[in-house]
Amino acid sequence: MEANRVYNFNPGPAMQPLEILKEAQSELLNFQGTGESIIEISHRAKEFEAVLNQAKADIKELMGLGDDYEVLFLQGGASTQFAMVPMNYAVGGKKGAYVVSGSFAEKAYKEAEILGVGTIAATSKDGDFKHVPTQDEIKLDPAAAYLHICYNNTIYGTEYHYIPETGSVPLIADMSSDMLSRPVDFRKFSLIYAGAQKNLGPAGVTVVVGRKAFLENSPKTIPSMLRYAIHLDKNSLYNTPPAFCIYMVGKTAAWLKKQGGLAVMAERNAKKAKLLYDAIDNSGGFYRGHAEKDSRSFMNVTFRLPSEDLEKKFVDEAKAQSLCGVKGHRSVGGMRASIYNAMPYEGCERLAEFMEKFRKANG
Ligand SMILES: *Cc1c(COP(=O)(O)O)cnc(C)c1O
Repeated sequence: MEANRVYNFNPGPAMQPLEILKEAQSELLNFQGTGESIIEISHRAKEFEAVLNQAKADIKELMGLGDDYEVLFLQGGASTQFAMVPMNYAVGGKKGAYVVSGSFAEKAYKEAEILGVGTIAATSKDGDFKHVPTQDEIKLDPAAAYLHICYNNTIYGTEYHYIPETGSVPLIADMSSDMLSRPVDFRKFSLIYAGAQKNLGPAGVTVVVGRKAFLENSPKTIPSMLRYAIHLDKNSLYNTPPAFCIYMVGKTAAWLKKQGGLAVMAERNAKKAKLLYDAIDNSGGFYRGHAEKDSRSFMNVTFRLPSEDLEKKFVDEAKAQSLCGVKGHRSVGGMRASIYNAMPYEGCERLAEFMEKFRKANG
């Protein structure tokens, strides 16, 4: 770790690999000898289009996807996808089915509800979102336009450890907080999207990966900017794209390839998460994990302490040790350590050690 940098456990914007921040810094004033910054360069310049195409190719390579899939770079965050999905696909009287497994999953469902096209296939809300609904809990109408799931529930700290079977119903996933953190059989999904600011780069771009044939299917009755088919047709250059963000996402993908790809990341992420879950499980009940064990997330570790006073003290003392952003979301309370791809093992080690010390001093 660089002197005067902290371990940032915030849920997003999150830590980025130091190596690529430095690379971007060194290239900021003069991108590839153009005499311009990547921020200043035309999005129609061949240098920029090469960056965009390389980022797409690297993302697809990491995900093990071929020519029948395409990567789009859109704006408006994952939250705009919540609306675009039903606008593009829950058409012709069909409804979009939703598994409501947490806050963002519910927000996605609510956008479909605004359009009058949402239906709930399963929910774990009654159980305080402590688990991800199982295949048996999902009641999917075979006539549904799609099944939408949120693969990692950032706020509650739960994650899918299986892919729902949907028969012929297209599967769509919000993977904002775990995309490219582990290998998944991405081919089972018709559409995947992620706000970049967790695992992929800076806030301001949303990475959408979809089956080409599915993306081509947008109705012509919705505004152009909200149609996947337009962005597909224009190679994400329909309007001015967030060039700097795409460039950073490209650097992240190249960095992931250099690390050895998603299998290596999954192994590292599991080791990091284990340090924190062990600190919870071996605390004699001082720390209480929010997620049920078989739904635990490798990306967001959520836990409570015996009292809110101790929770406040924990946040303050952690921060004094350069362990920042461990306060949980207000809807769950307690702590949340977000440990995405760029969080080094040492950061988790430091936090686990701190947890142990804090428990001994306050337990
Ligand atoms: C952060 C997050 C969102 C919201 O993303 P924005 O880019 O802020 O719209 C949606 N879904 C999940 C799972 C998230 O973690």
